Amino acid sequence: MKTPLYIVMLGPPGAGKGTQAKVLAQALSLVHISTGDLFREHLKNETELGQLAQSFMNKGELVPDGVTIKMVEERLAKPDCVSGAVLDGFPRTPVQAEALETLLAQFDAGVKVVPFINVPDEVLVERLSGRWVSSSGRVYHALYNPPMVQWIDDLDGSELYQREDDQPETVRHRIKVYRDQTAPLIDYYTQKSLLVEIDGTQSIEGVTEDLMKAVEEA
Ligand code: ADP
Ligand code: ADP
Repeated sequence: MKTPLYIVMLGPPGAGKGTQAKVLAQALSLVHISTGDLFREHLKNETELGQLAQSFMNKGELVPDGVTIKMVEERLAKPDCVSGAVLDGFPRTPVQAEALETLLAQFDAGVKVVPFINVPDEVLVERLSGRWVSSSGRVYHALYNPPMVQWIDDLDGSELYQREDDQPETVRHRIKVYRDQTAPLIDYYTQKSLLVEIDGTQSIEGVTEDLMKAVEEA
């Protein structure tokens, strides 16, 4: 059997992780695992975890490591992950990164490459204030990646919405949380020779091209 391929998408909120993770997952026939989407799914289904997560998400804080790691552990144990996965939004702390390593070691696997999509703060705020999402997790931008019909999902016709936590004030706090708690992973994965920096200010297609190259060379 081929060695499973696990890719970790790293970058600040709004860098384009979700947009690119979807493209990569499709191109490489891997599952796309977004912890943000998983939490929002729990929220929609009004589970206990969803309620807990909501209180952190609305404030732009990270959900505690313990519950986040457990949720990812359960997801990665599902049969559709045997060939690997594109992880989007996880790990977000060094504790989560260590946990991921331990977890993957159980499958005799490890993270293969960590594309770090780098985008300056002022661009992030603009991207997130124009982000429109569908309930199934598809992502648009009012200017940079608009749907065919305003506020309507291209594929299933459902209504698009703006995320509560994409308001500028919360966005600024999320960027701070990213700097304090997630940015240390840049060093963590550089030391493991897994980090590949990608210029996230390019067009969506330009970023995809660089990402595909990074994965092929890994
Ligand atoms: P993340 O998952 O890192 O938070 P998203 O993939 O949701 O980021 O992208 C944030 C917003 O920016 C979305 O509205 C998306 O359509 C838009 N976007 C993503 N990549 C680009 C890009 N290269 N250029 C312009 N806008 C982009
Ligand atoms: P973005 O696309 O802007 O990067 P996400 O959809 O990935 O945002 O995450 C939204 C929120 O969900 C985060 O602000 C945080 O509250 C929570 N969250 C997502 N992933 C994690 C994680 N790995 N650890 C802790 N909290 C997380």
